[in-house]
Amino acid sequence: MPYLIEGETGDWEVVIGLEVHAQIVSEAKLFSGAATGFGAEPNTQVSLVDAAMPGMLPVINGYCVEQAVRTGLGLKAQVNLHSVFERKNYFYADLPQGYQISQYQQPLVGEGTVVLDLADGSSREVGIERLHMEQDAGKSLHDRDPGRTFIDLNRSGIALMEIVSRPDLRSPEEAGLYLRKVRSIMRYLGTCDGNMEQGSLRCDVNVSVRKAGETDLRTRTETKNVNSVRFVMQAIAHEAERQVAAYESGGTVEQETRLFDPDRGETRAMRAKEFAHDYRYFPDPDLLPLDLTEDYIARIRATLPELPDEKKQRFMAEFGLSAYDAGVLVADRETADFYEAVARGRDAKTAANWVISNLFGALNRKGLSIAESPVSAENLGRLLDLIAADTISGRIAKEVFEVMVETGGDAGSIVEEKGLRQITDTAEIEAAIDKVIAENPDQVAKFRGGNEKIAGWFVGQVMKATGGKANPKLVGGLLKEKLRN
Ligand code: MN
Repeated sequence: MPYLIEGETGDWEVVIGLEVHAQIVSEAKLFSGAATGFGAEPNTQVSLVDAAMPGMLPVINGYCVEQAVRTGLGLKAQVNLHSVFERKNYFYADLPQGYQISQYQQPLVGEGTVVLDLADGSSREVGIERLHMEQDAGKSLHDRDPGRTFIDLNRSGIALMEIVSRPDLRSPEEAGLYLRKVRSIMRYLGTCDGNMEQGSLRCDVNVSVRKAGETDLRTRTETKNVNSVRFVMQAIAHEAERQVAAYESGGTVEQETRLFDPDRGETRAMRAKEFAHDYRYFPDPDLLPLDLTEDYIARIRATLPELPDEKKQRFMAEFGLSAYDAGVLVADRETADFYEAVARGRDAKTAANWVISNLFGALNRKGLSIAESPVSAENLGRLLDLIAADTISGRIAKEVFEVMVETGGDAGSIVEEKGLRQITDTAEIEAAIDKVIAENPDQVAKFRGGNEKIAGWFVGQVMKATGGKANPKLVGGLLKEKLRN
């Protein structure tokens, strides 16, 4: 179903492009050796280069280049052998150089593709226009003093990748999927930790609307620095509605930069949009162009891990999972590894159900990540083995699992301690059946009178009488025999 906004004059389509600023995982900054850890005291991770002292020269951090190349390869993108750092000139208190070193005409990475896994199991490709490297700015602290603003330069010079999508996204949901997917790929690669609360991943959201069927793009607005997936989706929905209302009432949409206010769930005008020429870009004379070799790129390519799309395909082929289940399991690497450890050598679909329904359910309830799971993959595997060996029934397994979640205990020991072993001794089951039959002559009469459906009720009674421990298959077989005689 296409996402359309209904207006007085017809349906409107939303056109969305995202610019993602992703902090590169690196101990040191892009052009200096200063540290990059989050949460340090203000201005304790600032070199003379980051503070833009006169005469200081930037020196490129080779590891950051490698990380950006790795990301480009993960986005199935063209890595350019020749790229150029340029100065993007603007004045702001948190930018001591008076310019940001970025890439403009010749970025490190060109066109690529991200695959979105849609809710209905289908997928859709979104184009990547480019990925370039640039420095982060410092931070203005407005809340430390009633009359003054302080500047923290810890972020100044931290390496960022700006990943620009094509305007291929058509709904808030698709934008959310795209952002999650890009984050997932970078986490698999270890190139960005994707932590949006800490600002390692920020998103500029470009939105325009047009009448359904129009092919030209209308004026877009850019909502800056949105810092959660949910806020990105909210900002798009609000901005699209606002633009439709403007056109519908005979007005226009201005090209401008806007801010998202999470408390009110709406966007607000911040300033008229700058155009590229406002920044007077020119090649940074302090830095040589970046010239890479095919060999260098091939070496990085050889170290890439299996990425989510490939892993998903493999899980479908190897484990027979649905596209949906496979997509859920590969969304992050820890979950995929956890699942694989449980599934290997066992019934893979049962393993998927247990991880997705029972384990995720328990983790959600407790607010834990998979890395913090009280139930280890090994332990969950042992629980599945007990079910497969008919030592416990599926129903009892759920009970055992709840104990495992609370105590982190081993499935086998819990079953023994609590005496939950399935009853497979036919004599014991027969005794329970005889008792139920003796106590319920009316129901027996109904069965014998032709109401065979009532057999299910008898199974339930016998299971209850045995504390859920009787093997349900044995109970079913023996019951029918006894009821018929
Ligand atoms: Mn940027």
